[in-house]
Amino acid sequence: MTSIAENIALTLTRIREAEAQSRRSPHSVKLLAVSKTRPASELREAYAEGIRDFGENYLQDALAKIELLADLDISWHFIGPLQSNKTRPVAEHFHWVHSVDRLKIARRLSEQRPESMPPLNLCVQVNISEELNKSGVLLDEAEELVREIGKLDNLRIRGLMAIPQAGLSEQQQRQTFGRLHNLLEHLKTVSPNLDTLSMGMSQDMNAAVAEGATIVRIGTAIFGARN
Ligand SMILES: *Cc1c(COP(=O)(O)O)cnc(C)c1O
Repeated sequence: MTSIAENIALTLTRIREAEAQSRRSPHSVKLLAVSKTRPASELREAYAEGIRDFGENYLQDALAKIELLADLDISWHFIGPLQSNKTRPVAEHFHWVHSVDRLKIARRLSEQRPESMPPLNLCVQVNISEELNKSGVLLDEAEELVREIGKLDNLRIRGLMAIPQAGLSEQQQRQTFGRLHNLLEHLKTVSPNLDTLSMGMSQDMNAAVAEGATIVRIGTAIFGARN
């Protein structure tokens, strides 16, 4: 096996173990392979191992890979900061955006989503550790943004995404992810269709699965360290 294949097998085993430990049903957590900075050939390798969801942060780099891999049945997730003048290619080429934190961005994605395509799936990014200069809305701003996005055409609001601050203990990671989980449960009372908690990366995926993640975004543990 190549190391990407081994890493994927290991990551899936870790996810299935974490699901079992927290008494969650098998396959309730989706593995999103974060392929930013990696060449298209490595995505092909991951695809051959059954990965169908890829996460990208850098738009130009992502668009090049989307073109190179057009023969594959991939669901593309935009997970990086999104500037309002860059929304059109995202609306035209991606299936998901995890990093929406302003209504202006959502409005543009809604207007620019081609009518021939299914609705674009969105998550609202929450600045869960309330760090300065970090993307995402504050916890108490999320409800308003979710409500407003819910009124827009061509979009499907799915849930919440967060990146906790670095360097937390496992217990602190769990508390932090637990706050996002509680917020989603609260929002479901106003938007019953919400079903997604995008949380957990290579270093904190166990805590995220224990606290209810439905999508974990894993880069390093699959493709190795980035430069
Ligand atoms: C890079 C990145 C990841 C993956 O992080 P790893 O630590 O490499 O698993 C996940 N989510 C976002 C938003 C990222 O930018």
